Amino acid sequence: MNYRHEFHAGNFADVFKHAILCRILHHLRGKPAAFRVIDTHAGAGLYDLASAAAERSGEWHDGIEKLLSAEISAEVAALLAPYLEAVSACNSGGRLRIYPGSPTLIRALLRPQDRLIACELEPKAHLALARNLRGDSRVKILELDGWVALNAYVPPKERRGLVFVDPPFEAGSDFSNLVSGLTAAHRKWATGIYALWYPLKGRRDADLLARRLGRAGLPKVLRAEILVAPLGDPARLGGAGMILVNPPWTLESELSAILPALIRVFGGAGEAHFSSGLACGGTRTERSLMYGLFPQGRSWCVVPYWQ
Ligand code: SAH
Repeated sequence: MNYRHEFHAGNFADVFKHAILCRILHHLRGKPAAFRVIDTHAGAGLYDLASAAAERSGEWHDGIEKLLSAEISAEVAALLAPYLEAVSACNSGGRLRIYPGSPTLIRALLRPQDRLIACELEPKAHLALARNLRGDSRVKILELDGWVALNAYVPPKERRGLVFVDPPFEAGSDFSNLVSGLTAAHRKWATGIYALWYPLKGRRDADLLARRLGRAGLPKVLRAEILVAPLGDPARLGGAGMILVNPPWTLESELSAILPALIRVFGGAGEAHFSSGLACGGTRTERSLMYGLFPQGRSWCVVPYWQ
């Protein structure tokens, strides 16, 4: 395991993923019943943006820093509030120095009755995670393979909640692990919310993932993607996507406001679209539906799902 998230913390892909994560948590908080979150690949939990790694990559300048200094509409600001408030709670005096990873964001949105299980397999990251989230009886930190946890911890006893799957994709097997892990977990817990992140360097892996998930026949799937740079350079992350199973029913329209706003903030020739499980990957006709033109060559669009 060579992947180190400190190089990438707070980049555009983190902002995209964490904004969606916080929307889902916000919805789970809408009902008093307890929920549980299982974060299968949790990382270290907190990232120092002044560290040598963050300095060297500089990726957060094009991500969270841009978002914090951008002008966004009141509607989008309200939708991003749960996320941005959690980021700001880790920083004092209005200066951005620390970026919260997924387990920290999740913890910020837990109520007394809610629980988090966070798994991290890499020993140093696990130690940092245990230190960063210590002293909270709602949170259990495990040095455990996230793919094992995905199977072992569903369904949670609350029968409500989210499984957040964010592997490093340094091994080619992570795309196929997503399909097998998700379909097995879904058989055990069909009503849970699942949020799976994936990188976009080219279309091939993402479209294959979508086709495989389509064949698995999961009934309620939403796919969200943003592209901030042309694809095709294997060394460069041009975009990111998420597969959302059993999403809160308002998430589709929320994303139709959030994604184009993020595209504007991050600039570049990007596009954002989201679509139903079946349109995942997209036949040519579906694609022409999914892509709408946007000024300056960028594009995005919305396709209703459960159609
Ligand atoms: N979810 C985090 C980022 C995680 S990066 C966030 O949003 O802030 C992916 C993490 O998965 C890395 O820290 C890596 O060490 C860890 N990892 C890699 N393989 C793993 C496995 N099989 N099980 C659990 N964690 C793993």
